[in-house]
Amino acid sequence: MSATRAPLRVVITGGAGFVGSHLVDALVARGDSVVCVDNFCTGRRSNVAHLVGHERFELVEADVIAALPVDGRVDAVMHMASPASPPEYLRMPLESLDVGSIGTRRALELARRQNARFVLASTSEVYGDPLVHPQTEEYWGNVNPIGPRAVYDEAKRFSETLAMTYKRQFDLPIGITRIFNTYGPRLRPADGRVVSNFLVQAIEGRPLTIYGDGKQTRSFCFVDDQVRGQIAMLDSDCTGPINIGNPVEFTMLELAHLVLEMIPDTGSELVFEHLPQDDPTRRRPDISRAIELLGWEPRVDLREGLRRTYESYLVERAQANV
Ligand code: NAD
Ligand code: UDP
Repeated sequence: MSATRAPLRVVITGGAGFVGSHLVDALVARGDSVVCVDNFCTGRRSNVAHLVGHERFELVEADVIAALPVDGRVDAVMHMASPASPPEYLRMPLESLDVGSIGTRRALELARRQNARFVLASTSEVYGDPLVHPQTEEYWGNVNPIGPRAVYDEAKRFSETLAMTYKRQFDLPIGITRIFNTYGPRLRPADGRVVSNFLVQAIEGRPLTIYGDGKQTRSFCFVDDQVRGQIAMLDSDCTGPINIGNPVEFTMLELAHLVLEMIPDTGSELVFEHLPQDDPTRRRPDISRAIELLGWEPRVDLREGLRRTYESYLVERAQANV
């Protein structure tokens, strides 16, 4: 912690989730206090269990669609609550719409009452199936508003609109981050996203499921890098939106081969399955804004990040006796 900076009291909605729990750890470690609000619909108690009893950590079990019951001073609200994995938001379509709309409104109201900084975890999905490549923040996106993915994409687009409205109407200090595909330890093995699927499949010697022809691209950001980006946004006075992601782009076939290279004795093969509707064909962030305004750049490449994630899965499986 810097000698001049007063410790913050930060509310993190979705703080028991994959990214949220790493953010909680990083803020507590630098001397801030964190109130983690989660309903555990996709998060896990085990992600924050090591902090229970810590003097600078509070856990509030609540559904932010219904209420955001936090008392006392609040310096910042970081709104991470939302299902994020396609199978999860498709399983909870109405909840996903509600958490992006009603949940975001509640989180903004809490920030407004406290004149606290508000940081929104938005997503590269606001660009939909992008016609501009790489994606700059000026690009308005190409989202199908009536397709199944829209429950997530449009909820996040609406949450950005809400945040900007609080800025214009109340001069609330807000910051919007657009998170690109992030992976790492604590991504639930059964989460359904591609990195956890491929790793678990390779560990278990099952075929790696490639959706479509595997030529679609994503740009994968290691979670430690993502958390540094989130904290840089928290500490800044930038409104954004700012892309936070790793600009190195891979096809899903390349990702599968990296996993197979890393676990050579797996015996896994590739199997090709149906491509989900509206699955974006390519995605890569232009991170010029993050570099210029936040001084942020990713440091961990995909090989290294995959290795660290793989090792964490082995530890998790050993602890669970799998
Ligand atoms: P995650 O599913 O692990 O975490 C989401 C957390 O929010 C979970 O702990 C879940 O229980 C909680 N939550 C969901 N609805 C809630 C509600 N109504 N009330 C209280 N808690 C609720 O996913 P993640 O990958 O950690 O994503 C965190 C945030 O970052 C999400 O807002 C997501 O949209 C955004 N994001 C993530 C990625 C990524 O690649 N990981 C990419 C873009 C955006
Ligand atoms: N994908 C895949 N196999 C899987 C899971 C996902 O080929 O087992 C593909 C998916 O179709 C998409 C990419 O991997 O093109 C990234 O999917 P993910 O769900 O991780 O994130 P998102 O679609 O939100 O970018």
